Amino acid sequence: MNSTKNGKKSEYCAYCNHEGLIKNSEAYVLGEEPLSVCPKCVKPSCRCGGEEPYFYTEEGKIKQCSCRDVRLRIAKINSIYKNSGIDKKFQWRFLNEFNVRNKNDERAKKAAYSIITRFPNIDRGLYLWGNPGTGKTFLSTIILTELIATHCVSGKFMKISRNFFGKLRSTFVEGSSMYGMASQIERELAEVDILVVDDFGIQRDSAWEQETLYNLVDARYEAEKFTIFTSNLDPGIAMKDLSEGRILSRIKEMCYIIEISGPDKRVEK
Ligand SMILES: [Zn+2]
Ligand SMILES: [Zn+2]
Repeated sequence: MNSTKNGKKSEYCAYCNHEGLIKNSEAYVLGEEPLSVCPKCVKPSCRCGGEEPYFYTEEGKIKQCSCRDVRLRIAKINSIYKNSGIDKKFQWRFLNEFNVRNKNDERAKKAAYSIITRFPNIDRGLYLWGNPGTGKTFLSTIILTELIATHCVSGKFMKISRNFFGKLRSTFVEGSSMYGMASQIERELAEVDILVVDDFGIQRDSAWEQETLYNLVDARYEAEKFTIFTSNLDPGIAMKDLSEGRILSRIKEMCYIIEISGPDKRVEK
């Protein structure tokens, strides 16, 4: 017993997809823990009872429990997730919940699946666009959730809104609690492994806002970081004049552009 050493993937079973942990897609409904150790390959040999720091005693000696790597990984994922900025109503939702109702949905879901399974071996991000209510934000947060939960990578969700720019602007105001934090915020957004930029393209009025966005997009392009944009705007038409087309050409280079239009899914609920 207890021959499991370190968190080598091959030591976990097919039931948990060789990850050692299980994703609970009903967690958000039932209020349960979203991630747990695999009941088939990890839990049976656990001797610590899931108590931190995951050690047990045998013949008077303290030993590391075989569950420890997986439990530490779950703790790390949870901590990344807590700081990801994903809206409560979209938290811990997985790809099986994205309903396909037309060809656009099908293509978008396929692209999402391909990203989730091939990460980090993917050459481009995604630009999801279409009319409101088609599930663009939902799908983008699903991809973010799946990638964080599977690969334990850092990820952030940012909504482009007046609020976002207001916050960024206040970093330049002396006396504001955010004063001086602009470069820190910008660096974080440029360096995070996965970034979702939600509602891209609404900020059309100020040159400063356009420049800020262009710099962010450009920084992620240069660092070859994975980025998902969602937008109500057809990139071919709407963004031609945005920053003299510079943002558009960057996005075209760094993303697959996928339309996800159709009836408003929110109406049915
Ligand atoms: Zn397993
Ligand atoms: Zn244990």
